[in-house]
Amino acid sequence: MTELIKITDPGLPDAKNALKRAAEILKNGGLVVMPTETVYGLGGNGLDENAAKKIYEAKGRPADNPLILHIEKPEDAEKYCHTSPLYFALAKAFMPGPLTVIMPKKDIVPLTVTAGLDTVAVRCPEHKVANALIHEAGIPIAAPSANLSGKPSPTNAKYVLEDMDGRVDMIIDGGECEIGLESTIVMIKNDSLTLLRPGAVTYDALSLVCVKVTIDDKVIRMLKENEKPLSPGMKYKHYAPNTPLVLLDGEENRQIEFIKNEMKTKKCAILCYDEEKDTLNHKNAFLIPIGMRDDLASHAKKLFTALRDADKLSCDIIYAHLPPMSGLGLALYNRMIRAAAHTILKV
Ligand code: AMP
Ligand code: MG
Repeated sequence: MTELIKITDPGLPDAKNALKRAAEILKNGGLVVMPTETVYGLGGNGLDENAAKKIYEAKGRPADNPLILHIEKPEDAEKYCHTSPLYFALAKAFMPGPLTVIMPKKDIVPLTVTAGLDTVAVRCPEHKVANALIHEAGIPIAAPSANLSGKPSPTNAKYVLEDMDGRVDMIIDGGECEIGLESTIVMIKNDSLTLLRPGAVTYDALSLVCVKVTIDDKVIRMLKENEKPLSPGMKYKHYAPNTPLVLLDGEENRQIEFIKNEMKTKKCAILCYDEEKDTLNHKNAFLIPIGMRDDLASHAKKLFTALRDADKLSCDIIYAHLPPMSGLGLALYNRMIRAAAHTILKV
């Protein structure tokens, strides 16, 4: 049985009681889904091997894809990994917030959590419900995204329930996630950073704190056969809807003309800009607006729900604009090329 509770303000008396119960579940080895500012997380005790096993099982996640430890305060990282001055510089600039840092692990972190790696990923979420829960539980919470493996990360409780009902002890509904894409992941090596997953903390922002930031090339390309990535998660086909998704590249007017032509013979779901709603209006077009053209933050917030919604329409195909590769666009690009299995159509 999965208990669903709603918490908007963790300071209210009811919420405090609910958080106490959630913390008990975690301390007893159970699973609690919590809202964060990025996406919902499927949480378990990050120091308990069996809890970690339950997380992999609930998600259907391959056991070689490690979990992120969610901590209350940046300095708590000291307990779980070998930190460095660069870590604290990043912490000062971006924590609490959507940045995950990978560092050499300490023995206290079970190898099940890190999928056998000698490094561990830590993040300090800004969401007040997540933060209150970690505080109340007094343990680091290991939490991957709360979706079934291969589905888009859930950004609201409705989609958490769709994937996790009956698989976890409790789901905390904290409303829509503010950012909507998973955290930026960087790996620290001496005084340099490798960007393994782009997110709301952008390459440009990281470069202001560290002069040596390299973007791992697998962020924007497909993995070769038998290639071993630095981040195991890169191997897996992620975020994929069942309906084929095609990303359109090229001048925007041409993209619109192309879609209009396609609509004559195909039922199309279209992740469109708000400005395009009128021009794309057609009986065969199922429009899913993701915000104004230049509002990348809105596209990020709405992307995963849009993909899930699009998949429910029984369309022949889903079209979306290929995002730019700069700023927050890089995070969108990284998620969308995977969702589209790298199907980019130049028009
Ligand atoms: P998720 O929790 O679903 O956002 O996925 C966590 C991501 O972090 C996955 O892509 C993992 O491969 C990556 N990750 C976690 N720990 C490590 C680590 N120690 N080294 C490299 N990548 C990691
Ligand atoms: Mg995930």
